[in-house]
Parts: sequence; structure tokens; C-alpha cells
Amino acid sequence: MSGPRHYCGVVGINAGHNVVADLQKALMIIQNRGQDSAGVSVFDGVVINTVKDAGLVQVALPKERIENIEGKVGIGHVRYATTGGKGAQNAQPMTLTTAFGMMALAHNGDLTNYAKLKTEYMAQGAVFLTDSDTELIINLLSRHMGQDQDPIKAIKAVMAEVDGAYALALMINGRMFGIRDPLGIRPLVIGKLDDGYMICSESSAIYALGGEIVRDVAPGEIIEVTQTEIKSYAPCNRCAYAHCFFEWVYFARPDSIMDEREVYEVRKNIGKVLAREHPADVDLVMPIPDSGRAHAIGFSIASGIPYEEGFMKNRLAGRTFIMPDQATREKAVSDKMIPIRSAVNGKRILIIDDSIVRGTTLKKLVSMLRDAGAKEVHVRVGSPPIIAPCFYGIDMKNREQFIANKHTVEEIREIIGADSLGYISIEGVVEAIGKPASDLCLACVNAKYPTKIEGEEHRYQTKLTDIQ
Ligand code: AMP
Repeated sequence: MSGPRHYCGVVGINAGHNVVADLQKALMIIQNRGQDSAGVSVFDGVVINTVKDAGLVQVALPKERIENIEGKVGIGHVRYATTGGKGAQNAQPMTLTTAFGMMALAHNGDLTNYAKLKTEYMAQGAVFLTDSDTELIINLLSRHMGQDQDPIKAIKAVMAEVDGAYALALMINGRMFGIRDPLGIRPLVIGKLDDGYMICSESSAIYALGGEIVRDVAPGEIIEVTQTEIKSYAPCNRCAYAHCFFEWVYFARPDSIMDEREVYEVRKNIGKVLAREHPADVDLVMPIPDSGRAHAIGFSIASGIPYEEGFMKNRLAGRTFIMPDQATREKAVSDKMIPIRSAVNGKRILIIDDSIVRGTTLKKLVSMLRDAGAKEVHVRVGSPPIIAPCFYGIDMKNREQFIANKHTVEEIREIIGADSLGYISIEGVVEAIGKPASDLCLACVNAKYPTKIEGEEHRYQTKLTDIQ
């Protein structure tokens, strides 16, 4: 699949005050979901105005630019660029001017039938300016709106056509909608504010704005967010959940509650399960900051082994994961993490990371700990071996990337240079999340996909044929 991928965050607010600053604040809170571009669109009573750019929220949405726009209803987006590049041209919300007014759309997820639909619509004369599936959605919406200008009908018509993962914040002139794909693969939660309502990829932004969580948007549900209420339009009868388990393991903020399970709690549970499944005789448990921190706390609680911080992380360093080649990625890991020598020297250490993809991070960190004087370095991993690509919005696309496809656990242990290596089991991570396995998307660790994808095994069919 080509085109920009959407490992992103969305927000939408409809309230009794100018919401621009709140949108900006919410985007800063969910910046863990994307650091390459940011944008907001607000309706000022006549038109939708948008400010968006490349860079962190502070850079893309500086005070002097956002104070020029105003509106009581608006949406926002943070984007994690992978194949689509980091440029401003890929920043969202994406906007469109149509015969019935203006639309703005912010999207988290990936459509799995994007290429097929795009080809079909191009054959009918549709024109696309980007490689983005968000453009396809907004185009389809505009096309379906054209018929009788009923947004709910138009959204349902689009949902019946597209497959895959999507959590959307949509504005059609001054009306705002939240939409979650039929399996709820990507998260979307509703919050109540003093003078209105909001939706967001992560609940932590709701608390940051002084609000309260109302509930998650249900799989396949369309909601309209007004200042005084949330209107809900029929989730499909046959909807089943397939929450992405990796949101809890790695992607989301620890203080977020997703589909009623707090990320921090789940990560601590993962550590506890790891202590049971792969115990170790060591002096200290150490996290790989930041995402491995709660995992390590859980391991320490369950095992009684003291927890210590052994690495200082340089927060301003770039993302190592998407750097182009192995040497650059390895160098970037050592620029980002510095061992605390006094904590490490002469100790038998167990480190926990959330996942191993290529093995770059752990290989480098194990050797850095040894250089800093560690006597033994044991590794535990908070997700089962990653063996299959994600087609739903997490940047793990290529089977060739995954070290666990080419090597046994023992071989991986040797490659990363650890004294021992233990991955949590699939059953273990399901137990830690506390939802039935059938309600989770575990495709990257069991290669069984919750929607139909050509050439891949699928669990059940999810076409939204029963949404009117
Ligand atoms: P690797 O170094 O290739 O084994 O990648 C694993 C490391 O990257 C772990 O420390 C994770 O926290 C992080 N990670 C895992 N998946 C992703 C992803 N899709 N995007 C960015 N970072 C990731």
C-alpha cells in the first residue's frame, strides 16, 4: 500500500466559547499519536477556516496564526508521517468546498480498499490530488451529500463502501460528526465539557480540558456532536469489536482510558504477566522509557524485584523507528538513551520494552548497558512476537522488517546480545487487556485479520450492508 499512513490523532469540539485554543491544547496532549504535522479547522458562522502545517503542534499552530481564526465548533489533527512524507501538503484536516458549503475531515486509520475504490472512481472521472485515503473519504462524502444533502445518509453510504480502520472527526459547515469504523479498530471517545461536548482519540485530552468522559463511540456508530447533546445514529446490528491491542501496549498515552480499559493499568498487568511467564533472577527491573515504564512497574510489583530507572531519555531526539537505514537507526538509539552508570554498574538487570520490530532498539540498548558495566542483561517484551503487517494504521507494513519472522526467540536473544529473552504470550496480553481475544485485533501477532484483506487470513466479514 502506498500513500500517507494515518498513525494519527483526531479531536473535535462543539462548545459555547471559541474552541481554537482548546483544540490546540488537546492536540498537544495527544501528540504521542503524531509529531510531524498538526492542524485545526473551525467554523466561524460562515466558512471553515483552517490552520495547518508541518511540525509539532507548537510549531505548526503558533499563537500568532491561531489567534486569527475563531469558531465555537472545530476539529483538529496530529499526524505521524511515514511513507507520505512530513510536508505541510499532507497535514490535516483536509478541507473541501462544495455546492452545499465546506467540509473538513480529520482521519486516524487506514482504508484497506483505498486503491481499488480510487481506481474505480478515477475511471468514472473523479480527480484526486493526493495519495491519501482521507481525500477519498472526503470526496465520497461530497459525492453522496450531493444527492439529497443529508449528512447521515451520506456518511452511511461512505461507510458501506470503505473497508478498514477509521476514526473520523468531520465538519460539514457548522455541524460536527464523529465516526468510528465498524470494528472500532482505532479509538474514539466522547467527553462532556462545561459548555459543550468533544470527541478525541484519547480520553486524556478530555480531562486536560476540564471535561468528563461520557463513553466511547461504538464500532460503526456515527455521532453528531452539538453544544447540548450527542446524537447517535444506529451502530450496525452485527458490529463486533476488534480494538487494536497495540494501542494499549505501545501507542496510547498511559493515562488514557480506551474502551473502558486504562492504558497504564493494562501495561502494569502486562508486566505482572511477564513476571509470571518469564521470571528472572536479577537485581533490578528497568524500563525502556517511556512506553516500557508501566510494564516494568508491573514486573517489579509481581516479582518483588526493585525497580530503577537506568536510562535517561533525550526527549528532543527524533523518532528512531522511521529512520531510513539500520546504521542511522542504531546511532539514533544511542543518541536518544543514555544509561545511568551508577544504577547499572555491576548489576544483573532486566529491561522491558513494549515491542520488538526489527530488534534495533534492544540490540543497541543491551550493548550500551554492558558498556556501562551491567553484569547481566535480561530482556522482556510487552507484546508477543510481531510477525504480520498492520493494514489498519500502525506503521508496521512489511513482513521483511520483522525480526521474529526470520528468527526463533533463541536466535533473537543471541542477535540482541541478551542473557535471556522472554516475550509475553498472546494469551498473556489478552489477559492483561481484560477483553476477550475475539474483541481484539491481534493481526500483527497472529496474522489473522478482522477484515478481508487479499492474500491474508481473515476472521470474519464486516461489510456494513445492514447500515441504512
Ligand atoms: P525495533 O527497534 O525496530 O525493534 O522497534 C521497536 C521499538 O520501536 C520499541 O522500542 C517500540 O517502542 C517502538 N515501536 C514499535 N512499533 C512502532 C511503530 N509502529 N512506530 C514507532 N515506534 C514503534
